[in-house]
Amino acid sequence: MTFATSPQRIVILGGGTAGWLSAALLSRKLGARAAITLVESADIGTIGVGEGTFPTIRTTLASLGVKEADFLRASDATFKQGVMFDGWKSGADSYFHPFNLPYGGSDPGLLPHWLAQGSNRSSYADAVTAQERVARANLAPKRQEDADFGGPMNYAYHFDAVRFAGFLRAVATASGVERVEATISDVDLHEDGDIAALKLPGDRRIEGDFFLDCSGFSSRLIGREMGARFIGVGNVLFNDRALAIQVPYDDPQAPIRPYTLATAQPSGWTWDIGLNARRGIGYVYSSRHSSDDEASEVLRRYLGTFGNGIVPRQLRFETGYRERQWIGNCAAVGLSAGFFEPLESTGISLIEYALLMLVEMIGTRDRGAREGAARRFNTLMRERFERIVDFLKLHYCITQRTDTAYWRDNTDPASIPDTLRDRLAQWRERVPVRFDFDLDRETFLPASYQYILYGMGFATTADGPALAPEAAGAAFAKVREAASGALRHLPDHRTLLNHLARKSAAAS
Ligand code: FAD
Repeated sequence: MTFATSPQRIVILGGGTAGWLSAALLSRKLGARAAITLVESADIGTIGVGEGTFPTIRTTLASLGVKEADFLRASDATFKQGVMFDGWKSGADSYFHPFNLPYGGSDPGLLPHWLAQGSNRSSYADAVTAQERVARANLAPKRQEDADFGGPMNYAYHFDAVRFAGFLRAVATASGVERVEATISDVDLHEDGDIAALKLPGDRRIEGDFFLDCSGFSSRLIGREMGARFIGVGNVLFNDRALAIQVPYDDPQAPIRPYTLATAQPSGWTWDIGLNARRGIGYVYSSRHSSDDEASEVLRRYLGTFGNGIVPRQLRFETGYRERQWIGNCAAVGLSAGFFEPLESTGISLIEYALLMLVEMIGTRDRGAREGAARRFNTLMRERFERIVDFLKLHYCITQRTDTAYWRDNTDPASIPDTLRDRLAQWRERVPVRFDFDLDRETFLPASYQYILYGMGFATTADGPALAPEAAGAAFAKVREAASGALRHLPDHRTLLNHLARKSAAAS
């Protein structure tokens, strides 16, 4: 990194998850080399959704130097061990996408043996990891005595987005980030097109050397000022609206699912996320396939009596991403850079990935070097977005459902990206292996593709298994043993959360 002696002035526009995570992480990583100001608007507010995360969030939080129990208590958070997909294959099925990697690896590991077992086999996820059974039993991924941010099972979190942003704000401001509450009305540009300052009402200006656009869907800086082109992918991923609702538990000590429940619906799917004090539920759907009234009816049916008297909030979004997410002295992080639907919780993981790069790259002040950094950032972010499109589309395009136009249209070859079509054609004859992926550009590793493909009943006519049958049998038996051990030793999810909440309260 090249830093001049005076601290670099970094200005962040936006105080949602993207803005405050950027502020907390950059101030922690750059220390005295940066002077950070964050501007957020009470009038505009934040999106207020985004409750499911990806396991990378543990490393991100650990790098902020916070305690896991404090984060959980402040954010009303719970543990997430994967996503349960109900009804996606045929309408009456259920499969699990766990965060644990398969026992024996995924290259191809036990997969050919599992395929060779024919129709009497258990689910792929259950055959190769203990996590499906742990999750279905509502157990936590770790024990009381496990260190912060780790445990026997791989995990992420569910949290309340507004409370999480508040937690990050406290972390960031404690480490010196200045917070300004205002709605920016305009932007001053230098002659070369770089941003000079954000203009606030009353002739106030906030000058900076580097600007992060965390302004959400308005994409106020990268889109409106810098003119970054938006690449829409609504022809591949159809969902563009959501109805979101917060539902209290009928019993405050009710069991909490340690996974996101994603249930297929006529024109989309419902998410159901258990937080500590409430559930977050929503229906994400395609406006091409459903009217808003029909969508409300689907959500009402899903909620049953739970939803009585609660009015859902509607969110509209355009699916896609900015072709360039860093232009001049401005980079976009969060919804301003792009958004796909919430399936598999990619929004916050993309924020984390962008920040990992920016921490290393934004210190560059030489113009030529900065342009090179921007080109590299843009290539890596664009490819990451592109690869995610394929992975999300995989959940839909191999369905056997034909009951509604939504599911039929999702299998239309014209809606499947060439890259995914190529892979699927090969995977009909052989299992996915690492050479199918540019691993540094993927959010989802080959194991995730395998869990979705075989959870959805995809047929692969694999070559003969690589391991001797006895060795494979012993490996499957080990997984079953590990699952029995985990069921005996891991605590109930809510019981562990109660313990951690007490621990955090006692220490504060
Ligand atoms: P926002 O939260 O919208 O924040 C924008 C900020 O910019 C606000 O503070 C606003 O006040 C400020 N601002 C804007 N304009 C101005 C201005 N002119 N002046 C001053 N301030 C301004 N992601 C996941 O990872 N997992 C999920 O499960 C998930 N579920 C989702 C469900 C839905 C329905 C949607 C729509 C998104 C979901 N996401 C999810 C995405 C996730 O919500 C976002 O990635 C995350 O919340 C980051 O949002 P943000 O900070 O970029 O934007």
